[in-house]
Amino acid sequence: SSRTKIKALLTGTQTGTEVTVKGWVRAFRQNRFIALNDGSTNNNIQIVVDFENTDPTLLKRITVGAAISVTGILTVSLGQGQSVEIPATTIEVLGDCDPDAYPLQLKNRPSLEFLREKAHLRFRTNTFGAIFRVRNTLSFAIHQFLQEKGFVYLHTPVITASDAEGAGETFHVTNFDLNNIPRTETGEIDYKQDFFGRSTNLTVSGQLEGELGAMALSDIYTFGPTFRAENSNTTRHLAEFWMIEPEMAFYDLQDNADLAEGMLKYVISYALDKNKEDLEFLSQRLADEEKQKPQNERSEMSLLDKLQFCLDNDFMRITYTEAIDILRDSSHNKKKKFQYLIEGWGADLQSEHERYLVEKHFKKPVILTDYPKEIKSFYMRQNEDGKTVAAMDILFPGIGEIVGGSQREERLDRLEQRMDELGIPKDELWWYLDTRRFGTCPHAGFGLGFERLVLFVTGMGNIRDVIPFPRFPKNAEF
Ligand code: ATP
Ligand code: MG
Ligand code: MG
Ligand code: MG
Repeated sequence: SSRTKIKALLTGTQTGTEVTVKGWVRAFRQNRFIALNDGSTNNNIQIVVDFENTDPTLLKRITVGAAISVTGILTVSLGQGQSVEIPATTIEVLGDCDPDAYPLQLKNRPSLEFLREKAHLRFRTNTFGAIFRVRNTLSFAIHQFLQEKGFVYLHTPVITASDAEGAGETFHVTNFDLNNIPRTETGEIDYKQDFFGRSTNLTVSGQLEGELGAMALSDIYTFGPTFRAENSNTTRHLAEFWMIEPEMAFYDLQDNADLAEGMLKYVISYALDKNKEDLEFLSQRLADEEKQKPQNERSEMSLLDKLQFCLDNDFMRITYTEAIDILRDSSHNKKKKFQYLIEGWGADLQSEHERYLVEKHFKKPVILTDYPKEIKSFYMRQNEDGKTVAAMDILFPGIGEIVGGSQREERLDRLEQRMDELGIPKDELWWYLDTRRFGTCPHAGFGLGFERLVLFVTGMGNIRDVIPFPRFPKNAEF
């Protein structure tokens, strides 16, 4: 049997056509009207049941959550709230759903906290349906944008012996026999034996491997899960998150920033176009949430306005040094409203500072460049001032850091010198240093945290709500 998806039915099917739809019951009113949803859209199709001529045992089985198949002729609806409906000629229950046991049997909109407890079922709500369709579109748009520019999607490994830059804590990967754990002479677990005789961890970033690809294929990107064993209970950190990491030969820092800004605008615009209804729904959801807040804390702009604003304006580009001046002289700093006061040059920015720059000072996305070398990684290109490196972070309103990137240090002597200063063992990264020995060239890249992008576009407040199966301390079951 040919089944029509509800989205196609509502947008493209002629009335008068016989159709079969399959989905899950969202509501059943007066033994007569079924609201049916199949996840292709938040809009339900109304099924009209001829209850006088329907077997009462079948009627009893049409409960919220049940999976059903319905055949009938698509008809113009005379009722309020929908343009078409299907008077059912046949209804088949494919899977029953016990109303007494089903947790989403709710009259009111369930809270996000409640749904986080029921994460295995939350896909069935309008909010999560919209979020995951938008997430899907953003992922597709990223590939589309980079593919159109001729980038090669290079799959970097999940298991690796390099911890990139020690960007975060790493998860060990081991194939230890738990009954025979290898020990060092002093009795400690010998992690050097992790992986068939090598020490390994889950990747924290595919960058170093990505550079190997870029130094031959010119433009590559990796887009995969990355892992950080940070005991993070923030609304912006996960233990497992997805990262897009483009790496480009013959790019400098400005080219890098241009690519990142262009990509962010492209994918946001793509989602606004492709997922208009879902984003309207999420915008309304956020507006309802804002109404619960006191007047002076409410956002003046709707989600849709914020997204459009981001497309219509150049991101602000400033250096770290300029940012420190702004922060140090800000009334916020002088009134000691920051938890970490900015005394002067050299300090790392905390998220409260990043958000101040973006949300209070510039009121738009900011690309912050040229950080002190002490607070950035060894592979970033050293500037001529001897104090800063060609780093860039992109900061977004409501999110903080969304992108971290840099021009890479392509000069072997400078790179080795920096590694020595930081005590990074050169012999372990011999393969990385080879790129600087054999035809080195200027190159740059960045990492875009995919969930932070999804957070921004959906207007959600907690990163655990924008990934289907969030991994955070003590949460790994589903
Ligand atoms: P933060 O300062 O927010 O902890 P970071 O500087 O440690 O981030 P990077 O190593 O620069 O992160 O990683 C690149 C990008 O990956 C970040 O800009 C961010 O968007 C994202 N990201 C980093 N850590 C996490 C995490 N634990 N969960 C989700 N996204 C993350
Ligand atoms: Mg971090
Ligand atoms: Mg950071
Ligand atoms: Mg960073």
